[in-house]
Amino acid sequence: MLYGKHDQEENSLLRPTFGSNGEDHDLPKYRLNKESLSPRIAYQLVKDQLLDEGNSRLNLATFCQTFMEPEAVKLMSESLEKNAIDKSEYPRTAEIENRCVSIIANLWNADKKEKYMGTSTVGSSEACMLGGMAMKFSWRKRAEKLGLDINAHKPNLVISSGYQVCWEKFCTYWDIEMRTVPLDQNHQSLNMDTVMDYVDKYTIGIVGILGITYTGRYDDIQKLDQLVEDYNAHTEYKVYIHVDAASGGFYTPFMEPNLKWDFRLKNVVSINTSGHKYGLVYPGIGWILWRDAKFVPKKLIFKVSYLGGEMPTMAINFSHSAAQLIGQYYNFIRFGSDGYYDIQKHTHDVAAYIAKEIKKMDIFDVINDGAQLPIICYKLTKDDNREWTLYDLADRLLMKGWQVPAYPLPKDLDKVVIQRIVVRSDLGMNMAHNYVQDLKQAVKDLNNAHVLFHEKAEIKTYGFTH
Ligand SMILES: *Cc1c(COP(=O)(O)O)cnc(C)c1O
Repeated sequence: MLYGKHDQEENSLLRPTFGSNGEDHDLPKYRLNKESLSPRIAYQLVKDQLLDEGNSRLNLATFCQTFMEPEAVKLMSESLEKNAIDKSEYPRTAEIENRCVSIIANLWNADKKEKYMGTSTVGSSEACMLGGMAMKFSWRKRAEKLGLDINAHKPNLVISSGYQVCWEKFCTYWDIEMRTVPLDQNHQSLNMDTVMDYVDKYTIGIVGILGITYTGRYDDIQKLDQLVEDYNAHTEYKVYIHVDAASGGFYTPFMEPNLKWDFRLKNVVSINTSGHKYGLVYPGIGWILWRDAKFVPKKLIFKVSYLGGEMPTMAINFSHSAAQLIGQYYNFIRFGSDGYYDIQKHTHDVAAYIAKEIKKMDIFDVINDGAQLPIICYKLTKDDNREWTLYDLADRLLMKGWQVPAYPLPKDLDKVVIQRIVVRSDLGMNMAHNYVQDLKQAVKDLNNAHVLFHEKAEIKTYGFTH
């Protein structure tokens, strides 16, 4: 007999997956199982574990990319083993990072007379950490030079209360006072009437957001630049701007090339973005650039060996795969600026369509209609007879697989519960039509349903807000 009964190895290959030793008992979950499993069985087990997880394409909560072209995926899976930090082993990859920084500097209108500098990171959070540290070190150097007692007060950072959590982390890690400029009904982005009241000699910098994670609104960076210009004209204690363009950094340059928010503005010294948001790469990759090397304190630059020489590095993380970097470069050369425009324009059009349909339903107040970032936010109109909330609607949509979170707005506006849709490139017009149909059906079902009573004043959170 070719495959004898006792030929264990062959035998295990022949056995059907659901009839194998690995599948006939519950494996330990929180410690290692003693014996090995065959790759085929292990694959199936892990795959099954993930079976009822959300479908990323139907997740309208996230800014993170959920589609890349098969060629990009191939390239990325062929470069998983490359360590992005190992610049002497992978000099071509290092060169790819340099090219990407240069492409982004160009996209953000870096001044030819200055020496831009930048690095890839794992995401915007790491990039913001670097931007914040550079601001802190630069501030300290300026302040010491002017004879300020830098220990008399904590240094502070000025930002709107619509900040993303990474800034809170930055301020906590580095012992910085976070001065938040409140948002209110009339100021749903950084309040230009009051922002400068928060600035003093201990301000390491002001962060402008393009755009606010919760609503997609842009801070008026051009106006902020003007205010900073006026402020700096009257003091030796200069202050500068960092722009958190996690989501706008790869969107605005194509959709609103004339909007000034980037290095065209004199006081914008650094900008971060997430390559895995509208840079169209799978997570995690981010970028930070400074308009000029003089804004990057020398202390933050470390040397790693590179082709027998040395190369500066600034990133906080050391080892990580170069796959995302290579995926970013693929997108740049594959799409070009025309391709990025086409994709972002299409995304914009889908957002406009969904916003229009939602307005037509007449039960929602649209807070953000996707005119800038393709984010649609809405709240329910006031109706004392309505027995359901946006949380119920979110649950209902989830039955069709759509993840559309409902949550309260950030501090100072937190009485308002909204629902947010982030339109990404892979939400095509056909899927958008399906979504609108499912939304209408969900509302109809809720109107006809007996819904469990909710405490009126209760504010709940649901889903996540990245
Ligand atoms: C998403 C986001 C971040 C964090 O970005 P990651 O790439 O997820 O680390 C920071 N700031 C803003 C405004 C964001 O929208």
